[in-house]
Amino acid sequence: MVTGHGEIPTPMFMPVGTQGTVKAVEQRELEEVGAKIILGNTYHLYLRPGVEVIRHAGGLHKFINWQKPILTDSGGYQVFSLSDLRGLNEEGVTFKSHHDGSLHQFTPESVIEIQRALGSDIMMVLDECTPYPCDQTYARESNALTLRWAERCKQQLERSRPLYGVGQSLFAIVQGATYPELREFSARNLVEMGFDGYAIGGLAVGEPEEEMYRMTSLCTTILPEHAPRYLMGVGTPKNILESIERGVDLFDCVMPTRNGRNGMFFTRKGTMNIKNARYVQDFKPVDEECTCYGCRNFSRAYIRHLVKAKEILALQLASIHNLSFYLWLVRSARDAILAGRFAEWKAGQLKNLSVEISEE
Ligand SMILES: [Zn+2]
Repeated sequence: MVTGHGEIPTPMFMPVGTQGTVKAVEQRELEEVGAKIILGNTYHLYLRPGVEVIRHAGGLHKFINWQKPILTDSGGYQVFSLSDLRGLNEEGVTFKSHHDGSLHQFTPESVIEIQRALGSDIMMVLDECTPYPCDQTYARESNALTLRWAERCKQQLERSRPLYGVGQSLFAIVQGATYPELREFSARNLVEMGFDGYAIGGLAVGEPEEEMYRMTSLCTTILPEHAPRYLMGVGTPKNILESIERGVDLFDCVMPTRNGRNGMFFTRKGTMNIKNARYVQDFKPVDEECTCYGCRNFSRAYIRHLVKAKEILALQLASIHNLSFYLWLVRSARDAILAGRFAEWKAGQLKNLSVEISEE
């Protein structure tokens, strides 16, 4: 993928920088672990510090001093999941801020304007992310609304210009819950409208894994191969490998950082709960093959101690390690694809990834 802030080899995992920061990870450390693009949340940044602050800073890249690509979501997902939703109609969505209860409205046009002010390399359309399970009639109506909103987002994109002299792409979002005919309808209509890339939304919201894979496969057979395909909010290392096999290029998930902050480490030999007593005097690194700062310098015993003592360094080391692991995973997947041995490599990885080391 080519953006105004650099190229992104795919498949790629995007660390989540909700508030303009990947929690507990410095920008220089993001570079060190090999992050090529990060994600920012429109809803959060719009409410705090507010669009005017970021506009005056010269855009989000300058504000947070990150010169590589940034993808921003449209805020829709957080409006539905975090805020006090007050109204949803043809025009857009009205909600109360989860900070102070103030009333706000997002429309397809306004979320494009907000993302213009943020200056993200990749902007997302406003959509309604339906829950699981979702009634078919509701899913059909919601899907139709999301399509009309996508069209309005595209028109607003064409009416507006980037504010900081760097081009911005717009990705559409396929919805349709777990109904194949709705997914197909959504994907075909969006492809006809024509976007720079396509996301698959509304998955990993509680449906069985097999259902998620089935919907993903259905979408990737319709969405064009030459455009980036992004599976939103996914997922575990296994989910990522299964989805790469199904043709997905981009992923984002809070799992590596959130689980890390709870003492769970992803390693090449399986997952590890560092709080487990077996690590009290284990002076090996978390992952002997990992090249992250923590694995190069500290032992499992020390990191376990930091986690148990609730030290800030524990949050940093865990987040850095898990992001290193996720980025290593997608890099290795790319190498395996290029070498024509993805299926074989993936089978080996899945065997390792399924191990819970602490339970052995
Ligand atoms: Zn590491």
